[in-house]
Amino acid sequence: MDDLLLMCPGPTIVHDEVRAALARPATNADLDPAFLDDYGRLCARLGTLLGTASDVLVLCGEGILGLEASCASLVQPGDRVLILENGVFGRGFGDFVEMYGGEAVRFASDDREPFDAEALAAFLAEDDRFVLATMVHCETPAGLLNPLADMCRVLKEHGILTVVDAVSSVGGVPVDVDSWGVDVCLGGSQKALSAPPGLTFLSISDEAWGVVAGRTAPIRSFYANLGLWRRWRQDGAFPYTMPAADLAALAVAVERALADGDRIARHARIGAACRAAVTGGGLQLYARSGQSDTVTAVVLPEPVDEGELLGLLRREYRIVLGGTVGLTDARVVRVGHMGEGCRGELVWRALHDLDGALRRLGVPPRKPLHRLFEAALDE
Ligand SMILES: *Cc1c(COP(=O)(O)O)cnc(C)c1O
Repeated sequence: MDDLLLMCPGPTIVHDEVRAALARPATNADLDPAFLDDYGRLCARLGTLLGTASDVLVLCGEGILGLEASCASLVQPGDRVLILENGVFGRGFGDFVEMYGGEAVRFASDDREPFDAEALAAFLAEDDRFVLATMVHCETPAGLLNPLADMCRVLKEHGILTVVDAVSSVGGVPVDVDSWGVDVCLGGSQKALSAPPGLTFLSISDEAWGVVAGRTAPIRSFYANLGLWRRWRQDGAFPYTMPAADLAALAVAVERALADGDRIARHARIGAACRAAVTGGGLQLYARSGQSDTVTAVVLPEPVDEGELLGLLRREYRIVLGGTVGLTDARVVRVGHMGEGCRGELVWRALHDLDGALRRLGVPPRKPLHRLFEAALDE
């Protein structure tokens, strides 16, 4: 399987330097003081990446753990929580809030358009009795990027705590936690940071820690209990054994990202060129506006069967692209161009292969997608 190229929107390609870190000699995270130093340094470097002076934690569990832990730890039974939803992950937050006894009140908008901060302001003018609000920065299944800074500004004007899933945006597009007013910012190892899957990281503001500390109802979870991590900040005792190898790999991935001065500009350039290729080829983007520079979701032309297309790409072209996840109004194929996958030659290859597979399935793009991509990059 070594030659299979991962160009789906996560898990993404893991660089050899990051893979090598997985093979370092093992240690006992609880008994080796060097581990504690490494862990603290990783958290600090993630803080730099996120633009925050707040506490940062890395939890052992895939990205979803962060979403669940923030709901489990911040929401008390009966709390009113505003769920900003225009996609699959946004809706998932509502499920977690209800699972932990909160009352989910939804501010829903079109799944194919980014949120409108003025509409949120109008909504809150009528009702702003919310303990916190949840939202997703990049809705990966739709390739949609929400205007996080504007939305958080409106929420903070109403004194509402902000919990943001930035799993597929952090590292690829600007995320500025402190200046944008994000109280809890959630990320995952396997998206734009291109480390192996298995770790969640999150920043948590003093105000959010205050909510955890001030709870009257106990947190109904162990694994998703951020209160235990608050104690870790004080006594340095982890709630469970930390996966030292995974953390070492993430640390290398974070250094690679921070050292890459062209990273954000490259995502913008490649994202725009990928979209230009898709639309130039006569295909339709799923998101009508506000598309993310980390992933492009392309509506499948009729009558292409999604399983057949992805299977053909995997078998004959040795490439993995993403498919439809949770969308109800369209089938899509998704090209990930985040992290290590955000390189001109790799996205060229993805578009070349997609173009070839569509031709074989009898739905040729108007012009070769990879040629359109080259032309757009040259502009
Ligand atoms: C990938 C992703 C997550 C993590 O969940 P998965 O189990 O990998 O699906 C959470 N939120 C977003 C927006 C993601 O893209």
